[in-house]
Amino acid sequence: MIETTALIVPAAGSGTRLGMGRPKALIDVGGLALVRRTLMRFVRVSEIVEALVVAPGGFIPDIQQALVGLDWPGCEVRVVAGGDSRQESVRRGIEALLSPVETVCIHDAARPLVSQATIQAVLAAARAMGAAIAASRPADSVREDTADGKTRPLDRSRLWLVETPQAFATDLLRRAHDRARATGVVATDDASLVESCCGQAVRIVESEGLNVKVTRADDLKLVRRILER
Ligand code: C5P
Repeated sequence: MIETTALIVPAAGSGTRLGMGRPKALIDVGGLALVRRTLMRFVRVSEIVEALVVAPGGFIPDIQQALVGLDWPGCEVRVVAGGDSRQESVRRGIEALLSPVETVCIHDAARPLVSQATIQAVLAAARAMGAAIAASRPADSVREDTADGKTRPLDRSRLWLVETPQAFATDLLRRAHDRARATGVVATDDASLVESCCGQAVRIVESEGLNVKVTRADDLKLVRRILER
């Protein structure tokens, strides 16, 4: 049996930290909107049967326009309105799912360089374990604040920088978001919700290639340089 997957792409961020005066997902990267660049990374993943892009309120037509002509055989792509937080945007994406898929993959619109190898490895691990995420090791030394107003070093060889894609068994992801909503749990990513609300261990897959998140102007410059090459 072929396992079917839905893709949810949270793209409802305002892009304030980029300071471009428009939603980040719509920023032009080499003639194409960032969100389109990101979706293009998934069009060859044959098990994805449905893709939901979660758009900033008021920008659904703009996001739809940015995706016109995207060549993705066998996959229905729709755009739905997001919420005030990433967590709420993902929840709205889950609620809008139409297909009875086994797995849901969540990938931020802000990460347009994700590699095929990372996508495939995360999906395979999620199918085997129920929950899997892409992550990378910090390249820099890392310190943390302490209660006395000082800082102390952390062992970076034991740390992971959490990224997307993140993929989960559909029932598990739904349960995590339902419980988070009922109990007021807030997290910056879905793996944290699945862990804290359902006690499910999450498998980490080390990212292959550069999986930059476009947050600040320098990130955008780097992504443009790579994608416009
Ligand atoms: O803000 P941050 O960079 O962490 O956002 C990560 C992803 O979540 C981005 O792709 C952004 O568009 C999305 N997001 C969202 N809804 C929000 C805030 C962020 O879909 N309210």
